[in-house]
Amino acid sequence: MSNQIQQCIIAKFGGTSVADYQAMYNSAKIVANNPNVKVVVLSASAGITNLLVALAEGRDSEIRKQHIAKIQAIQYNILEQLPENPILREVIDQAISNISSLSEAASLATSPALTDELVSYGELMSSRLFVEVLKQLDKHAIWFDVRKVMRTDNKFGKATPKIEEIKQLCCAHIKSLNIENIIVTQGFIGSESSGKTTTLGRGGSDYTAALLGEALNATQIDIWTDVAGIYTTDPRIVQNAKKIDEITFAEATEMATFGAKVLHPATLVPAVRSNIPVFVGSSKAPDKGGTIVYNTNSIRSELPLFRAVALRRRQTLLTLNSLNMLHAQGFLANVFAILAKHNISVDLVTTSEVSVALTIDTTGTSTDGNSLLTKPLLDELSTLCCVDIQEDLDLVAIIGNNLTTFKGMAKKVFASLEEYTIRLSCFGASTHNICFLVKSSDSESIVKVLHQSLFE
Ligand code: ASP
Ligand code: MG
Repeated sequence: MSNQIQQCIIAKFGGTSVADYQAMYNSAKIVANNPNVKVVVLSASAGITNLLVALAEGRDSEIRKQHIAKIQAIQYNILEQLPENPILREVIDQAISNISSLSEAASLATSPALTDELVSYGELMSSRLFVEVLKQLDKHAIWFDVRKVMRTDNKFGKATPKIEEIKQLCCAHIKSLNIENIIVTQGFIGSESSGKTTTLGRGGSDYTAALLGEALNATQIDIWTDVAGIYTTDPRIVQNAKKIDEITFAEATEMATFGAKVLHPATLVPAVRSNIPVFVGSSKAPDKGGTIVYNTNSIRSELPLFRAVALRRRQTLLTLNSLNMLHAQGFLANVFAILAKHNISVDLVTTSEVSVALTIDTTGTSTDGNSLLTKPLLDELSTLCCVDIQEDLDLVAIIGNNLTTFKGMAKKVFASLEEYTIRLSCFGASTHNICFLVKSSDSESIVKVLHQSLFE
């Protein structure tokens, strides 16, 4: 190993950072300029996963042809700007031909396993192309099939990684590779024990980068996307949103759970667990800097009372009401057991004497996108209590520090919201978060109002 390399950075590039040749070139430059980047994790070129998911749902032959032509056009556009390389062309053509046969199979019968097999081609192709772009910059890059190390269970569409096995497999397959080479691999995809392809859920490439970072004892995980870091709120909603230079894991985990779409929610889990800093920046403008997420001891600036306002859309509120709750034991345990059995993950919970309200995220992070509130689930809940479902709600979260001990916090937050109705609010579980559920039609104005009163 060369002496200059003391660090191991995992760099992940999202779909827009590998969307076309120019985007790939900008991303490859970032890798080439930093000798500490040892592993590159890639998403599919922007748009491709959506097309593959549509194909996996089963389409008639005319639509299939159109979708496949679009996929081919996106990848050929990149291929054709690279020096002629018959082997690479053959690899891409083979992938397109596999996509075509798998799509035909899906039109006869869909299955979650088939979907994962099909969507994996997005990342498999983008990573092949990226190796060549790096080679153009005179870098020694090798393509690596992440499925050799990214072992998961067999919950196709949203598989759970097996941390210990991943570590062992990384030791066996990645650490032994020549350190002078940059390893280029795929985000999002993995494989279960019998070798079938799985996926970690939509947007899962960030999570892959963090898992590999943990398994390889990385010194940093760099997430390159199309925004220059984490902002005080979504800059598309509030033009005055300010970039946050550094933020603690505690604050960022509340943001990741509550809406800031910059990072996949699970990304911070391995990072926090293994104390690996995560950097977020824009591959289009690397010189603009970004946000670094690390533990409280590393922060150089003072922690602010209010850090950010996050918005998460399309929440479903379940209100469960039952007299059985009155002075009863085990009612909530029963409710949650049913939810767990149906694989529902609950976000917010509030209880009163005879009711419990909870929200579930229905933005559908699994590749199949089916509704989570199935009839069997609702039937089972109805045996315990009255169930009411409310949709068209969004979640607004304020992230900060010491919110539970600051005098006057409630006034500061609620005074600016006098024009609005609030369906539910949650506060006190964490000193870093206060959030409420509001009508979807109000949510953007609420974010604007809150941002103005707390940050401008
Ligand atoms: N390509 C996958 C998706 O679009 C994974 C990712 O980009 O993180 O969901
Ligand atoms: Mg993505």
